Amino acid sequence: MFLIVFGAPGVGKSTQAKILCKKFSIPHISTGEILRESAKNIKSIGIKSSQVIANGEFVSDEVAILLLKGALIEKNCQNGAILDGFPRTVEQAKELDIILEELNYQDVVVLNLIATEDEIVKRLVLRRTCRDCHSIFNLAQTEGMLACPNCSAENSLYQRPEDDEKGIRVRQKIFSEITLPILDYYSNSKKIAPINSLQSIEGVTREILMRIV
Ligand SMILES: [Zn+2]
Repeated sequence: MFLIVFGAPGVGKSTQAKILCKKFSIPHISTGEILRESAKNIKSIGIKSSQVIANGEFVSDEVAILLLKGALIEKNCQNGAILDGFPRTVEQAKELDIILEELNYQDVVVLNLIATEDEIVKRLVLRRTCRDCHSIFNLAQTEGMLACPNCSAENSLYQRPEDDEKGIRVRQKIFSEITLPILDYYSNSKKIAPINSLQSIEGVTREILMRIV
């Protein structure tokens, strides 16, 4: 089973991807994490750090594909994988099709997580991130806490600058213009499962399982 978790920034892709990879015992390939890991030794593979912008959300197609391919080969993906944060452009989707064919993956399902922009903004402005371990929390989970609940680092929780409302709306606009057209590209070649993401984490997982099992 090869799942592509698709949706706007902040819709809950990573949360669901983590739950699903445990449930099906297949690797979770998060481009955000791959980029963070490789940012340290990125010069050694010939990539200029200027090509990796800010938190690694926007890199050139060439760089993203190179890193993704490496991760698919390196991690144990014979039984499939869960892709989170990739593809971000139609160009990346086309390249991914070539990789999927090369590595002989069938049964590809695109989980299309859907929520309104206002709901996403409402959730994201409450997001807090750990500087040390990059875990993401809701403000309600960490209210009054001084240390990260995951790694115990002190005073490490902060609001990323791109998680203020203006930054969020910019990212939503970029998503609509650059990433959303991928659904059209996929409409003839892949199974797309629309998932209502305006519900609890458990509710979203239940709906996904109903759609794919
Ligand atoms: Zn932490």
